[in-house]
Order: sequence, then C-alpha cells, then structure tokens
Amino acid sequence: MVSFPDLAALGEAVHDCRRCALGSSRTHAVPGVGPQNARIVIVGEAPGQMEDQQGEPFVGAAGKLLDQLLRGIGLSRAEVFITNVLKCRPPGNRDPLPEEAQACAPYLDQQLALIKPEVVLILGRHALARLLPGHDSISRVHGRVLFKNATAYIPIYHPAAALYNSFLMQTLEQDFQAVRTYLDRAARQPAPVPAASAAGGADPDHQLSLFG
Ligand code: URA
Repeated sequence: MVSFPDLAALGEAVHDCRRCALGSSRTHAVPGVGPQNARIVIVGEAPGQMEDQQGEPFVGAAGKLLDQLLRGIGLSRAEVFITNVLKCRPPGNRDPLPEEAQACAPYLDQQLALIKPEVVLILGRHALARLLPGHDSISRVHGRVLFKNATAYIPIYHPAAALYNSFLMQTLEQDFQAVRTYLDRAARQPAPVPAASAAGGADPDHQLSLFG
C-alpha cells in the first residue's frame, strides 16, 4: 500500500507514475482536483482527450453536464473532490484494462483514505467495479445508497452515457436528487452505523433506497 502525507504529494507521484504503459502515452496525468476536506468524492472512469490535454478531470462535455447536475442539487465543483479510476488517458478513450485499473488502484485507495469523505459518487460501471466489486450492473444499483466502511457509496450512470442516450438524462437527474436527499437526511441525523462485510465490501443487506 502506497502512503502519502497529503493529496499534493500523491498528485506529484501520479505525475511521475510509470506503473503501467499509459505512463508513456499520456500528455498529462490527471490525479484529481478538490479540497482534502471534501464531504463528497466523485469517481469517474478515466481522463478523456481534453482532460489529458489540461491535466484536470471532467473538463469536456461530460464535465459540463456533471457541473450542471451538481449545481442542480446546490453543489459546486469547488466543494467536491473529483477523480477517476485511471489517472491517465487510455489511447482512443478505450475502456480501462484490468491491469491498468489494478496498477492505479493504490492512488484511488489513498485518496479516499486521506479525504475520508461522507459520500462517494460512483460514475459508471468501471468505477462501480473498482469500488463495489460484486455489484456488476449500474442499471440495478444506480440511485441507491450502499454502505462500505462507514462511507455512503451512491452509484450513478456516467454523465457521458446520458450524452449518448438522452433518455438517461431524467434518470441521471433523479439519481442526483437521491444524492441531495441523502445529504439532507445525513445532516439531520447521524449516519447509520453500517455492518461492513468481513471482506470490506458493501453489505448488500445494508442499503438505503431513496426511491422505492
Ligand atoms: N470521463 C471520465 O470518466 N473522467 C473524466 O475525467 C472525463 C470524462
């Protein structure tokens, strides 16, 4: 397990990283942005072309939609931490390879350990597979609150999916409303103490469904 004193040190290591072949094809590594005391961490799939050019996550079309969805529930990009499963762009925006996700995993694990967020928003199936292994289908769990190690994980369709399939837009907006509902509820009462499974995975019996 890699260990860094803070997010800045972790970011420097990501910029120098050669743990997989993406280290030699990237323009810029994209460790993530946001404050270390963020209540919410958002985890996407991998940087795309614009993110690779600018070194920032979610700055392209999917990012604009993400900003809009955040604003819709009263949140701004400045108050959340945004990152990805992979910190470097896969050529041609192909899916992350299992060995790339594996090589990059210690960075995401450390980011979560340093930030200790109340809520992790999981954007899309690659982040779902990485963060809640065993929950293989985003269509089955999106909009639900799943607890793992005292943290609430809320899987959501990736905003890019709604850019391709406009019928998903309403679902995405409803799922963001589920996030707002959870945050409001958590502000009113202490978070339930979750019964994390022995393997550290999300306990399938410990879920909160905010929409039926
Ligand atoms: N899609 C992602 O998953 N991450 C980004 O940073 C941009 C697009």
